[in-house]
Amino acid sequence: MNLKLSVIAFFLVFFVTFSKAPLALAIGDVGEGYKSFTLGDLKLTALSDATGQMPFSLFHGITEDELNVIASAANMEGALNSWINAFVVEKDSKLYLVDTGTGAKVAENLVKAGYKPEDIDFVLITHFHGDHIGGLIDSSGNPVYSKAKVYVPQKDMDYFMPETATVPGGDLARKALAPYEDSERLVIFDSDMEIEPGVETIASYGHTPGHSGFLFTGTDGELLVWGDIVHAYLVQFVRPEVTLTYDVDEDTARATRAKVLAEVTEKNQVIAGAHLPFPGVGKVVKAGETYRYNPYGD
Ligand SMILES: [Zn+2]
Repeated sequence: MNLKLSVIAFFLVFFVTFSKAPLALAIGDVGEGYKSFTLGDLKLTALSDATGQMPFSLFHGITEDELNVIASAANMEGALNSWINAFVVEKDSKLYLVDTGTGAKVAENLVKAGYKPEDIDFVLITHFHGDHIGGLIDSSGNPVYSKAKVYVPQKDMDYFMPETATVPGGDLARKALAPYEDSERLVIFDSDMEIEPGVETIASYGHTPGHSGFLFTGTDGELLVWGDIVHAYLVQFVRPEVTLTYDVDEDTARATRAKVLAEVTEKNQVIAGAHLPFPGVGKVVKAGETYRYNPYGD
């Protein structure tokens, strides 16, 4: 199997392995595949990688009947739609790419949005699942981002990278990071760290051991690119206690989601999410005891 196929296969396995339900891939409407927002002196561009569906069997802490009610109210049947997004942030003439998708469409949509992969200064990786790191390399295993420094969380290095680690995603993580490690462009961060002035890592462990967000402070407020804090927007804003099978540590993931949702509402941060409906940018507001997601429109 060539590398490109193995990356895509990983992505499919990612959804299917744990589901035992037939997978129906539906390509949702992602318009041009990219969308830009101006947030003070920050320019944020969402890039679509792929769309898919999450079978109900992935979810813990909610019944299939409850999921059916939520899905059918949104005209979805038997599964919940899912998106994979990556984000470019322009700040102080530097280009940051947060996550790289599976290797499907991120690089292509980056070019459509007017950027070039070789212009990216920093690739910031939220965690080592294949839908976030698969796009680091092309189908021959060469690095897509030829000059970027790649920032990765220490705890995911420890969990996924050892040759002896047989965790799902370990093989792909080793392949995807190898060319960056070889060219000494891999930077490992541990908990909260400043990358550049106004750009910092935010530890949000649980979904994976090192899962992290990235906080950008601009002239018009703060932007948190939060990775996988929410996988299913229709469920987890109103029922933040619901977890998914592929949370490595479901209890920690649940506690982290509660903390992050409370913080982003309190601090009025703009959020960008890897699995929110494309473009996946908006604000979270309190709605009684739980939350509501207000996506940004045009
Ligand atoms: Zn993910």
